[in-house]
Amino acid sequence: MYVTMNIQHTPNTIEKLTLLGDVNPHERVGDQPQHENRALSSRIAQDIKHVLSCISMVSTPKGKKPVLKTMVTTACEKGCNYCPFRAGRRGMHRVTFKPDELAQAFDQIQRARLVDGIFLSSGVAWGGVTTQDKIIDTIEIIRRKYGYTGYVHLKLMPGAEFEQVRRAMQLADRVSVNLEGPTKERLDALAPGKDFSSELLERLLWTHQIRQQADPGSPERVRAGTVTQFVVGAVGDTDLELLSLTERLYQQIKLRRAYYSAFGPIEETPFENLPHTPPLREFRLYQSSFLLRDYEWDVEELPFQDGGNLPLDVDPKRAWADEHLRESPIDVMHAGRRELMRIPGVGPKGANAIIKARRAGHLTELGHLRAIGIRAPQQAASYILLDGRRPPQQLAFDI
Ligand code: SF4
Repeated sequence: MYVTMNIQHTPNTIEKLTLLGDVNPHERVGDQPQHENRALSSRIAQDIKHVLSCISMVSTPKGKKPVLKTMVTTACEKGCNYCPFRAGRRGMHRVTFKPDELAQAFDQIQRARLVDGIFLSSGVAWGGVTTQDKIIDTIEIIRRKYGYTGYVHLKLMPGAEFEQVRRAMQLADRVSVNLEGPTKERLDALAPGKDFSSELLERLLWTHQIRQQADPGSPERVRAGTVTQFVVGAVGDTDLELLSLTERLYQQIKLRRAYYSAFGPIEETPFENLPHTPPLREFRLYQSSFLLRDYEWDVEELPFQDGGNLPLDVDPKRAWADEHLRESPIDVMHAGRRELMRIPGVGPKGANAIIKARRAGHLTELGHLRAIGIRAPQQAASYILLDGRRPPQQLAFDI
């Protein structure tokens, strides 16, 4: 009853959220928009189902969730050359929410059980500091007035102040500062109005500093992890540049994840005639980024080609294994965990399972690897020794 009354009194808010459906390709923190695969649990949900274009399935610390991805405003005073929201772009319908209006709309949608979280970003419409205030005000209302305790991801604006970053990290589960380019020169070409070091990188460093200083016993505890995003391929950026910075951020500020967004040209922007970046390049960057984060790889080990990019036609881990392991296979019974994770088909869980299993007995055939949870042991066959010998290339029971 409560929600129905509010929906009837705020049709414009829902319509405005619908207009924001196209924030999704701009912000890659989620995956595909979710259109149909969640049951609409009530008439209220039917009434607002048209906001689904703003809802994406997003990876969160508690698994994938349907999340409302939206912006305080699509107006922006910056002129990033690739962005649909850049200042002065013709034909762009601008939408702006007041904090209480957006908070109320989110409350309706999450009470209707259409979403389990919110990702809140914004164009920079009133300078970075005031815009950040509006983002924080919106989430303060959602947390305090509506008592929402679920997933929140907040964007940190270029130029946000230290105390704003701290408050955002107390309210959110995740915060992001989008670096967009891997170096000052690349960012200057992508977004001439942003300063790589003082407006963006420094805020990323602050998030780590704030986490380190945080008192875990405080009622206002800091709980947010940090992520960033890069626009890939518009201005000559190389995979080596992108992954070198990613590695530094994993090591130095405990970055949770780097997102890579393959560039696609947008009409009425300075980059409208540039070519699309192949989606496969984005995929290879994610594969490599996970090797750096989860598999204890160093960036120098990745199979960069002349020019600093990865080959598109082969998985980077397999390319490395073809070069290094075909002649010198890894002995599964004696290798360390880091070495085991070099084997195609073996990840962190698989390496742990091998170490546990070999304490109890010998792993002498590919079927034993499958039995302990390695799903495609055939992928590993060319690169390992089992019982001191190369295993046959085909599992007997696969024939
Ligand atoms: S700051 Fe740049 S990337 Fe962000 S909304 Fe404005 S124009 Fe787009």
